[in-house]
Amino acid sequence: MIEATTRPVIAGNWKMHKGPAATRAFLEQFAALYEPRENRTLILFPPAISLAAAVEARGGRHDLHLGVQNIHWEDQGAFTGETAAPQAREAGAEYALIGHSERRHLFGETDQEVARKVASAIRNALVPVVCVGETLDERQAGQVDAVILRQLNAAMEGVSAEYNGALLIAYEPVWAIGTGMTATPDDAAAAHTILRTALVQRFGDGAAGIPILYGGSVKPDNAADLLSAPGVDGLLVGGASLDASGFARIAEAG
Ligand code: PEP
Repeated sequence: MIEATTRPVIAGNWKMHKGPAATRAFLEQFAALYEPRENRTLILFPPAISLAAAVEARGGRHDLHLGVQNIHWEDQGAFTGETAAPQAREAGAEYALIGHSERRHLFGETDQEVARKVASAIRNALVPVVCVGETLDERQAGQVDAVILRQLNAAMEGVSAEYNGALLIAYEPVWAIGTGMTATPDDAAAAHTILRTALVQRFGDGAAGIPILYGGSVKPDNAADLLSAPGVDGLLVGGASLDASGFARIAEAG
């Protein structure tokens, strides 16, 4: 049975923004604005170079969970510029984003690599947050289901049938990421249903513990609407997570 994660899950992906000083400033501001709440899970994904600063600035606020935006699939080795899961874990990460569309489309990450990274995260006690999503061309060609199921099923090859830790999925339509175009709550709900059905087929009742987040141009003004869509268990926020007061508003939505 996969461990259930408290929902909604609100996650912020900072991408390649904020060095250590800006990370500290954000966390001080955010911690002052956002009171710890039992009824949600909050995760920040700073750049790996800023993770230590985030851990330090978070202080005792362990309700503010931290993760890395990418990991390599090997635990160590001659892979210049990469971060290994055990290193991320040691530095204070609890979660790892895997298969973000920018990794897939800008850096050529394949479904097979995504599966190996998921396996590495699990092997090293990091919770994988697996991202899937179709491009605009794929949506217009009527391939949403086929693409997200292919990506999901490939990524789940990295999860053994005995896995009983936490696992998160993020549905992030590529055309909505950083574009200001958001999936309608209905579009999000439809994609989430497809993913949930596939997860139930694979994990049976255990799939109930897996939150499925929506990501793609989430802002303070649309967060509550998206969170209220059926099957949307949380939000993965890029650009709008960079501003502490805006992200605090999103974190309080729902
Ligand atoms: C993301 O980077 O995962 C994302 C959803 O970005 P944005 O919110 O800026 O569209």
